[in-house]
Amino acid sequence: MSPEEITILQEWDRRHFWHPFTQMACWGDDDPWIIERAEGNYLYDIHGRKALDAIASLWCNVHGHRHPRLDAALVGQLAKVAHSTALGASHPEAIRLARALVEQTPRGLEHVFFSEDGAEAVEIAIKMAAQYWQNLGRAQKRLFVSVDDAYHGDTVGASSLGGFPLFQGVYGHLHFPVRRLPSPWALQQQFEGDAQRARVVWLEKLAELLEQEGEQIAALVLEGGVQGAAGILPYPPGILRGAAELCRDFAVLLVVDEVATGFGRTGSLFYCEQEGVCPDLLALGKGISGGYLPLAATLSTDAIFAAFLAPFGEAKQFYYGHTYTANPLACAVALANLEVFAEEKVLPRVSQRILQLHKGLERFGALPVAGLPRQFGLMAAIPLRDPHSGRSYPYGDRREYRVCRRARERGVYLRPLGDAIVLVPPLSVTADEIDTILRVLEESMIEEGQA
Ligand code: PMP
Repeated sequence: MSPEEITILQEWDRRHFWHPFTQMACWGDDDPWIIERAEGNYLYDIHGRKALDAIASLWCNVHGHRHPRLDAALVGQLAKVAHSTALGASHPEAIRLARALVEQTPRGLEHVFFSEDGAEAVEIAIKMAAQYWQNLGRAQKRLFVSVDDAYHGDTVGASSLGGFPLFQGVYGHLHFPVRRLPSPWALQQQFEGDAQRARVVWLEKLAELLEQEGEQIAALVLEGGVQGAAGILPYPPGILRGAAELCRDFAVLLVVDEVATGFGRTGSLFYCEQEGVCPDLLALGKGISGGYLPLAATLSTDAIFAAFLAPFGEAKQFYYGHTYTANPLACAVALANLEVFAEEKVLPRVSQRILQLHKGLERFGALPVAGLPRQFGLMAAIPLRDPHSGRSYPYGDRREYRVCRRARERGVYLRPLGDAIVLVPPLSVTADEIDTILRVLEESMIEEGQA
């Protein structure tokens, strides 16, 4: 690309492209990073500079960019039809993908409702849960339960469940009422790391709430084993399983949001498998299309689906659907994404990388510029600390951002999350690349600590 073209693109980017979750007043402070192409685990910007995609393009890339199987599936579908509606019509890829998802998610989930993004998959679960009880004649069950610091997406419904005080402060007046339990991670910290005690106390609090208000509660919504956007805060093991049992006892639906943890991120295809849980509703997104196209899905049990079956005149159908619901291109590539898991024996490799990451993170514990790292599967967060005070830098200092900037100059693309730097590489990351990410991050943190 010529220098003139680059200058124009940068100028238009600053002037016209309003970026998500971005303070646009700072966007022009330095050279905006404009990615032109990608190959495998690497991104290339308009200057031709290469960087390892250590955040999997916001946690969604699975088998690397430009994977030949996924590219071929997309091009093959393009030769047939790019889009046709799912309202009043169907198409082979969505049908096959629905079947494949039912086969590969926990046994008991039988029906797939497609959408475009993670927030929407959760939004659909909320509406399904609410209407389920209404269709059964129990319309008083309309309250939702979530946890402090939860993140389920930023549409009004999904963000009602969200527990970030910052977002609640800005948009809270738009939200529906939600009962909130403590973050299981926060409880564990309160009990000095005692996971067992945190699990027992958290489940007691849930039981107490369900006893008091179960008759009014439609569903409990939980992220799949880790609070991702809150900064990779793992739940004590057994939370999901215990919650599933309590929900069943109190006739409350369990919605599990595996938007971040689904599709191999935790070493199994879905985290629910590790706790032997089949939720009533399961929200999927991000990795579902291998990180290629916007696609998401909400899976339900037969019992939920059955509550929506009635003579037409009773108006019990699910009133939801978008223009691009179950887009054929996205479905075709999602099918190929699932096939690659088996063809390339991805999960055993991911398990090795998870162990390697665990070992590699140990050294950060001893660094004056780092707090204790947190890991869940192939996701990690390393808190940045001011080496002089041992604390986080004040909000607004943007030190975490500057660490990421330094890492990018060294060829690794990272992003901050609160006071931590997160690592969420594609599942295709190699052992050498994990070492590179950790080395570059360590160097960048130390350098920023000396600045
Ligand atoms: N749920 C969880 C657990 C997430 O981590 C996210 C996004 N980080 C979402 C929902 C929202 O997904 P999307 O950004 O695709 O709307």
